[in-house]
Amino acid sequence: MLSYRWCGLVFRFVRSIKKRTPSVYATSWTIEYNVLGSLLTSAAGVRETLFHELFHNNDEDHGDWSAKHLQADYDAIVAACSGTRDAAHASRCLAPYAPNNTMVRGGTYYAFQQNNGDAVHEYAAELAVRYFKEQGDMLAAGKLARTAFKCGPSENARAWKALVNEFFAGRDLVPACS
Ligand SMILES: [Zn+2]
Repeated sequence: MLSYRWCGLVFRFVRSIKKRTPSVYATSWTIEYNVLGSLLTSAAGVRETLFHELFHNNDEDHGDWSAKHLQADYDAIVAACSGTRDAAHASRCLAPYAPNNTMVRGGTYYAFQQNNGDAVHEYAAELAVRYFKEQGDMLAAGKLARTAFKCGPSENARAWKALVNEFFAGRDLVPACS
């Protein structure tokens, strides 16, 4: 089995009626691309969104990997930040754990939005996007634009290592944390 499949995909172009979401939708190696998707306004946005969706397919193919390997840490992070007073405080609490800046209405990180299916899937897909971005930065510039995700809290380091080993053959161009 390929550890990260990125070809042999079905690609469909769609449009939502009277709205611009979802931008992309994926299941069973089929990716549906919304030609008016709200996240698809720049080349970088398109690339990241497609990588996110492609990860969902791979996660599914690896036996729902994220739910089995990331759920415990994920639930603990959500629980630790859920007692805060309001959305702004919760966001500040979650910030060190959020793989990306994408926010949804109400001021929550996409990776931590609840009522969104099993939200650990979104956290994992955002983590994969962060991996994609950091590897790209290392290839292009030899350094990262910001602190490496794995050098944040220990939950981040654990999730990163597990993801890299499962899907990307253990290959990580980002130097070890000091
Ligand atoms: Zn997703």
